[in-house]
Amino acid sequence: MNNQTLLLGQTFEAHANPMTLPWGDAVSVNATGAVLIDDRKILRVGSAAALREEHPAARVVDYGTHLICPGFVDAHVHYPQTAMIASWGKQLIDWLNSYTFPEEMRFEDPAYARAIAARYLDLALDHGTTTMCSYATIHPISVEAFFEQAAARGMRVVAGKTCMDRNAPADLCDTAQSAYDDSKSLLERWHGKGRAHYAITPRFSPTSTPEQLVALGALWAEHPECLMQTHLSEQLTEIDWVRRLYPQARDYLDTYEAHGLIGERAVFGHAIHLEPREIDRIAETGTALVHCPTSNSFIGSGLMDVAGLAARHIPLGLATDTGGGSSFSMLRTMAAAYEIAQLRGTALHPAQLIWLATAGSARSLHLHDHLGTLAAGYDADLTILDLASTPAIAQRSHEAETIWEAVFPTIMMGDDRAIADVWIAGNRRRS
Ligand SMILES: [Zn+2]
Repeated sequence: MNNQTLLLGQTFEAHANPMTLPWGDAVSVNATGAVLIDDRKILRVGSAAALREEHPAARVVDYGTHLICPGFVDAHVHYPQTAMIASWGKQLIDWLNSYTFPEEMRFEDPAYARAIAARYLDLALDHGTTTMCSYATIHPISVEAFFEQAAARGMRVVAGKTCMDRNAPADLCDTAQSAYDDSKSLLERWHGKGRAHYAITPRFSPTSTPEQLVALGALWAEHPECLMQTHLSEQLTEIDWVRRLYPQARDYLDTYEAHGLIGERAVFGHAIHLEPREIDRIAETGTALVHCPTSNSFIGSGLMDVAGLAARHIPLGLATDTGGGSSFSMLRTMAAAYEIAQLRGTALHPAQLIWLATAGSARSLHLHDHLGTLAAGYDADLTILDLASTPAIAQRSHEAETIWEAVFPTIMMGDDRAIADVWIAGNRRRS
């Protein structure tokens, strides 16, 4: 039986990193493109005419002038914060204490964890996000619920139990030993099961004792195939706090480095206020950073130097940081990345913005052999963008003279109405 499907449309094709090469050398759009998929994978990417002729038995789905992109990859989210997104008026430490910790306590209840995991994943898919890297809560059940709900939707996801053994409410604290034991049993159960990937997840240095960071560093050394995710240099008051908690550390990064928590497969969210030594070590060790622009402005954190860090060849991902970020949409997140780069003197090109939300995020999560690019052999996770999804966008894109002029209004003004379709491992979500 022939399970091949041929998707026709404009295809976003990335051949290299447009943050380090001229974007026009790295990314192109084929206005009459096609993507041939089978049960789970992309088989070929090419021109519509050629692929139609060579695969006459394939079922055809014609998207017209819609843009066929790799599925969006959100490189840093907290799915348990779904129900408290857009909470008013606090900066990082007060925000955690006022909103985050009370909400995370509710994940002790397996039914609540499952309900929010399902709600979050459906919202993400509505916004064209097919893969994400999520923090859970300290409760192992919160990780199980997330992986189970993602598996039910066929999604490739990364997640891990958030570890905290100080400076958090007693009901949200584990210990160095239980963080090690729980993380170990979760990663042994889930990492590599179907499309699940495990990330060892200390929340951030202020909520872990050095003993807990030692334990998690040891676990990562035993399981270097897993990611290690945490937060770095988000707010200036946080950095002062870290300095008081770790008086021996050279800087914030050193609180992780001293415990074996940097390097390949380490992913740090935010990374706004970095010292020169920190940037050097991040670049030398292949550590990835994740830009969370809506969160960084919403919580009042600062302006990440995306262009400067990219020039150092540091792997960069893009993320909503749900629910510190104020949107589930990677389009809104691309728009915020554009605005923040403008405030730092750089105009990111739409090719760079979509690349960051797909191949860039996939690279930051070490999933770049699986997804993030339209090419043969990759997972058939696809997001189809309607470039005229609202009257305001349509009146602009209809006047466009180039594909990028047509794409940019959707990046800046688009929302879930721009998501015309989503494919997950070769399965169409809407029909
Ligand atoms: Zn975060």
